[in-house]
Amino acid sequence: MRQSNEFQIAVLPGDGIGIEVMDVCLQVLDALADKSGAFKLNFQHLPAGAGHFRDTGTALPEETLEAARRADAVLFGAMGLPEVRTADGTEIQPQLDLRVALDLYAGVRPIRAIPGALSPLADPRAAEIDLVIVREQTEGLFSDVGKARAEDDTVVEDRMVISRAGSERVIDFALGLAEQRKGDGRRGHVTCVDKANVLASTAFFRKIFQQRAALHPEVATDCMYVDAASLNLVRAPWRFDVLVTENMFGDILSDLCAGLVGGMGLAPSGDIGDHHALFQPCHGSAPDIAGQDLANPTAMLLSAQMMLEWLARRHQMDALQEAARRLEGVIHKGYAEDAIRPAEYGGPDGTRAVGRKVIEALRQV
Ligand code: ATP
Repeated sequence: MRQSNEFQIAVLPGDGIGIEVMDVCLQVLDALADKSGAFKLNFQHLPAGAGHFRDTGTALPEETLEAARRADAVLFGAMGLPEVRTADGTEIQPQLDLRVALDLYAGVRPIRAIPGALSPLADPRAAEIDLVIVREQTEGLFSDVGKARAEDDTVVEDRMVISRAGSERVIDFALGLAEQRKGDGRRGHVTCVDKANVLASTAFFRKIFQQRAALHPEVATDCMYVDAASLNLVRAPWRFDVLVTENMFGDILSDLCAGLVGGMGLAPSGDIGDHHALFQPCHGSAPDIAGQDLANPTAMLLSAQMMLEWLARRHQMDALQEAARRLEGVIHKGYAEDAIRPAEYGGPDGTRAVGRKVIEALRQV
C-alpha cells in the first residue's frame, strides 16, 4: 500500500470535443476529491493531438510521453481532426502510439445499460446489458499502423500479427476480469471472438484461448466467429459477460455495443497494461459538434470512474473506490430520474450543464 494519498494524473485533452469533455471531467474529479477529503489528484496538462501536429509538426511530444510514463494514470480526451492527415492519408492518432509506448495491451470497454438512457433495442432485456469487451491492442490487424508497405500504386498490405505472448497476456487479463466479475455476482463467462474458420492467425488466437481457459476451470468459456458475434450482440447482448478479441474486431464491436446502450456519449474505456493505464471515452473528437457545448461528457466521466477504480485496486485505497461508486451512482440516478438530459439525445443539457448537474448532485450525496 502506498503512503501518499496524492496522485499525479497526466491529462491529454487532445482535439475537438476531447477538450470540452475533459474540462468538465476535471471539475467533477475535483468535486469528488473535495467531498472525500481522503485523496488528492494533481492534474498535469500535456499537449498532444492532431491540432498540436498541425501547429508544431509533432503529434505526441517526447516530454508528453515521458510525463505520461511518470504519472499514476493518464486521462485522455479525444484526438484526430479529419483535415490533418499523414502522407498515406490516415488520420493523426497518437493514442495508437501511446498504447504501444506504454504497453497498454488490454482495451477494456464496459458496455452497461444506464437506467433511463435510450437504447435502440425494443426488447426490455436491453436494460440488463452489462458486458465488457477486452480488446488486444498492441498487435493484430493494427500491427502496421503508420508503417503500411505501399510499394507502388497497385497494392497496399496491412499485416495481421497474433503472437503467443501478446495473446496470452490479454486472454489472461480477460479470464481474470471474469473471475473478478463472478466474485461481484456476475456470470464470470468469457467468449473468445475470432475468425478461426478462415484466418490461421485467429485460429491460433483461439487455440491459445482454449489453453489458457483450461487453467481457469471456474470461468465458463465459449468461442464465437466475429460475424456470429455481431449478430448475437444485436439479438441478445444481455447473454454476454466478457468478450476477448483481436485489435480490429474489438475496435468494431466496441462501437457496435456502444450503440446498443445509447451511443458514443455513454461509452467509457480503459487502456490497461501491467505498469500504466489510460482512460478515455470511446468516442472521437467529433469535429461536427466541437466548440458548440453539444458533446455529452458522460463517457468521459465514466472513464474517470474507471480510473478511480483502477487506482483503488492498485493502491488498495477504499476512498477512491468510494468516490468511483459515488460518481456512478449520481450519473445513473441523474439519467433514471430524467434530471440529466444531454443534447446528444435531443435534451436541453449541453456539455457544461451536464457537468454542473453532476457536481450539484455530488454535493448532495
Ligand atoms: P473517430 O473517427 O476517431 O472514431 P469521430 O469523432 O469522427 O471519431 P465518433 O466518435 O465515432 O467519430 O462519433 C461519431 C459521431 O457521434 C460524432 O461525429 C458526433 O456527431 C457523435 N458523437 C460522438 N461523441 C459524442 C458525444 N460525446 N456527445 C455527443 N455526440 C457525440
